[in-house]
Amino acid sequence: MRKSVVAIVGRPNVGKSTIFNRLVGDRISIVEDTPGVTRDRIYAQAEWLNHTFHVIDTGGIELGDEPLLVQMRAQAEIAIDESDVIIFMVNGRDGITAADEEVAKLLFKSNKPVVLAVNKVDNPEMREAIYEFYSLGFGEPHPISGTHGLGLGDLLDETVNHFVDLPEPEEDDETIRFSVIGRPNVGKSSLINSLLGQERVIVSDLAGTTRDAVDTSFTRDERDFVIIDTAGMRKRGKVYESTEKYSVMRALKAIERSDVVLTLIDADTGIQEQDKRIAGYAHEAGKAVVIVVNKWDTIDNDETSMKEFEDEVRSGFRFLDYAPVVFLSAKTKKRIHTLLPAVVQASENHSKRVSTNLLNEVIVDALAMNPSPSIKGQTLKIFYATQVAVKPPTFVVFVNDPNLMHFTYERFLENRIREAFGFVGTPINIYARKRT
Ligand code: GDP
Ligand code: GDP
Repeated sequence: MRKSVVAIVGRPNVGKSTIFNRLVGDRISIVEDTPGVTRDRIYAQAEWLNHTFHVIDTGGIELGDEPLLVQMRAQAEIAIDESDVIIFMVNGRDGITAADEEVAKLLFKSNKPVVLAVNKVDNPEMREAIYEFYSLGFGEPHPISGTHGLGLGDLLDETVNHFVDLPEPEEDDETIRFSVIGRPNVGKSSLINSLLGQERVIVSDLAGTTRDAVDTSFTRDERDFVIIDTAGMRKRGKVYESTEKYSVMRALKAIERSDVVLTLIDADTGIQEQDKRIAGYAHEAGKAVVIVVNKWDTIDNDETSMKEFEDEVRSGFRFLDYAPVVFLSAKTKKRIHTLLPAVVQASENHSKRVSTNLLNEVIVDALAMNPSPSIKGQTLKIFYATQVAVKPPTFVVFVNDPNLMHFTYERFLENRIREAFGFVGTPINIYARKRT
């Protein structure tokens, strides 16, 4: 089932990001040496009762120097376009302002369910203040306090009440779902078009999400693929379309539904900071990753330049050392045939299971090669390892004391496992657990 998306909208300073942070808590882990992924986040997962959903803080999407009213309209449009339920937030201390009324007008026309939250109601005496907000026309105002964490339960009860089941389109597990991410102008649309140009294409509107998710299925060499299109489904012409935060949010939405994420780089402009940030999102999500160097037609196309560029990619994207690098031109279609085999390989490795016997042989060999470390006179003992999950492959290593499993030793084990089983294209997780 697709997860519902909740957007928080309202004028500046009503407390949107305070509430956003309360809802998403610290769920997102920060992975070492992944560049700045979780800073300034505006899109994250939250949970309430038995619901898992996504939250957008629309206040985080700012449009340069545009006047306040333009900003607020754009944020309300994002909420309307991107979410299933909208939390409209106002400030109980200020009463209704002209800006609140502007936002209300837009939301009113949208036909999306709107839940009205009156923030900064920090104590019971202030509850009187909420009544005037009935006149906004969104039913019962819910008093909350972001600072004190009050009223959030009722607000969320009401919010999840509006969730409807959002089925994914049916397809079997063999289907490989992938998305294409990258900065503006790296060639995402061109790549998708040129992949699809050769195929019989079925474009399907996802039930309930016609506004954004156009999934395109095609078959190649008897394998079924679905492209989750972030590029083609851009809201061309909307004022917020070119803001970085907005494109990041779209990328995160697509990544979440993918098995494999193609991270595009422009050979012509070279690697930029934004490329690293965007690639970091795919890594953090635990998806299989293929790095695609596009516009290879603009480079003197010999082996040396390919090697040089790969070295640049490797040093720029250290956290993606498992991802294969493919060089191609979406425009001339040169080398484009090298792409899908890499996608298939990454996907197969992402869902690969290895036998427990073989795994433990590899661990025993690894221990013989590089005896486990000691910390303060205590030596790590490894008893047994087993694969507990796929997508991505996840291993648990049972040990005498997990604190003795140093990051570098874990890295060493990961490399041995990779050498033995060839997990090209997929991250793998290793957890040390105390044997009980
Ligand atoms: P945003 O611009 O809508 O995202 O608002 P922020 O979350 O940045 O909050 C604006 C200011 O209001 C900050 O100084 C917060 O500390 C404060 N604030 C947020 N929630 C509450 C609340 O429930 N009560 C009070 N008194 N202040 C709050
Ligand atoms: P997007 O913003 O990532 O979707 O990028 P587009 O697909 O819209 O492409 C941006 C620009 O790059 C367009 O002018 C394309 O024609 C150009 N472009 C895309 N792929 C290639 C390529 O392989 N080689 C060259 N030379 N130009 C390309």
